[in-house]
Amino acid sequence: MTESKKINIAVAKGDGIGPEIMDSVIKIFDAANAPLNYHYVDMGKDWFNKGFSTGMTPEATETIEEHGVLFKGPMETPKGKGVKSINVTARKVWNTYANVRKFRIYHGVDTVFSQAGIPINMTILRENIEDTYGGIEYMHSPDVAVSYRLITKPGSDQFFKYVFEYAKAQGATQVTCAHKSNIMKLTDGLFMNTFYDVAKQYPEIEVNDLIVDDLAMKLVRFPDKFQIIALTNLQGDIISDLCAGLVGGLGFAPSANIGDNISIFEAVHGTAPDIAGHNIANPTSLLLSGIMMLRHLGQISFADNIENALLYTLENGTHTGDFGAKDSKPVSTTEFADTIIANFGKTPEVGMVKHTGIADFTPVKKSRPSELRILPVTQAPEMKIAGADIFIESYDLPNVVAQQVAKVIGDKVVLQIISNRGTKVWPSNSVFTDSVPHYRMRFVAAEENSHLNYSDIFELATRLSELMIVSDVEVLKEWGDLIGYSKIQGA
Ligand code: NAD
Repeated sequence: MTESKKINIAVAKGDGIGPEIMDSVIKIFDAANAPLNYHYVDMGKDWFNKGFSTGMTPEATETIEEHGVLFKGPMETPKGKGVKSINVTARKVWNTYANVRKFRIYHGVDTVFSQAGIPINMTILRENIEDTYGGIEYMHSPDVAVSYRLITKPGSDQFFKYVFEYAKAQGATQVTCAHKSNIMKLTDGLFMNTFYDVAKQYPEIEVNDLIVDDLAMKLVRFPDKFQIIALTNLQGDIISDLCAGLVGGLGFAPSANIGDNISIFEAVHGTAPDIAGHNIANPTSLLLSGIMMLRHLGQISFADNIENALLYTLENGTHTGDFGAKDSKPVSTTEFADTIIANFGKTPEVGMVKHTGIADFTPVKKSRPSELRILPVTQAPEMKIAGADIFIESYDLPNVVAQQVAKVIGDKVVLQIISNRGTKVWPSNSVFTDSVPHYRMRFVAAEENSHLNYSDIFELATRLSELMIVSDVEVLKEWGDLIGYSKIQGA
């Protein structure tokens, strides 16, 4: 194949074991004649140390944005330098909104499930931008920390459309959405409702939802019952590592971060500094991520050929030191890669891969956007202000707080409830409710069925701030039947 017919991708070798495993994977790709042109970019610890605050050079950014695909080794974010994780930043800045992690049993990688003959073949799709990963956190007092957990309809919509397109391309018949909407009714409720809304466009796929803790239990007991599971960011982070544990650890868990313009393929393990430079690291996770990348790029037969050689290699007991039979000698990283190359064209006994030509993904090379876009939102009725939750730091008991509030409340609002850590402590309470010096006071319009305006709220907050430490003000909004705030427990 001529150079011009090859697909251009950006490659960042990474830190620690990154260069060793990347070199081995690219050796395998080259031996398989995978039609790729590699553009190596400067990214990782050394570039943080050279003063690039994002951990990459402007040229690296340009190359990645031009080619739209980044194949990367693990990278280290220097500790204590106030810099953000290069991995998380890359995923967010380039809006790779879906994280895809595949898990299957590999013959030769012993787990309780492989030994019991229970097949596992599932994919976890995790929303990759939102949730607590915005890192929007505050200290309301020296003892009280809060985090914004943002779940949005447009973001969930974008994610679930991808989930169902992916399921369709895979020929999956079932998609499960996991969440915690019994507790987080607004955030996870919105996520789950969007799942069911998008599912309507895919009637051929069976859908269901599970509370995430129930899912965790079911995954450990019946991992063969799941095909595709979609989750929010943090819950997906935890559940996908649980699934890695089911199939033999992070060394067998590939990962893709998919966006509309840029996608990133990487191993999920870290830089393994303890074994770096010894040529003993296991390149399987990065190789599997590379196989996902080849399928993403429509190179199905190359992906199948390499994956079958890997399966054959594992099946025949070749292993690096981190897995495999204890009584057989481990091979080095390069020997492992060479064995895979020697096994091209051989047929694994179990789990041979044969795709029918459908790509895992449907990549469409888009032109560079001229400016950031605002995702489409749903039309809602006019917004009305029902009241406000005002958060304060106070060391007084709730009835004393209420007496102080009465001095400045005025006649437009009434104090409805005071809660502590989400539980009602005024006008009545349980003496067993231990409290902390952090109250939420809920104020609503004094006149029934009337509404307030912003100045009512912020003037009240100003008057209160003369008597107590106001930490935050949250406006209670309503759009017709849509109530934009949660109820208070015990109210
Ligand atoms: P780690 O995954 O690097 O190592 C944990 C253990 O697993 C170590 O004993 C290591 O030797 C072993 N291990 C990991 N990958 C292996 C492989 N391919 N073959 C054989 N053994 C392997 O986790 P850590 O020690 O917590 O993190 C080290 C560094 O990696 C940190 O700087 C962290 O920030 C970074 N990290 C990067 C990524 C990423 O780039 N996506 C992910 C996780 C951690």
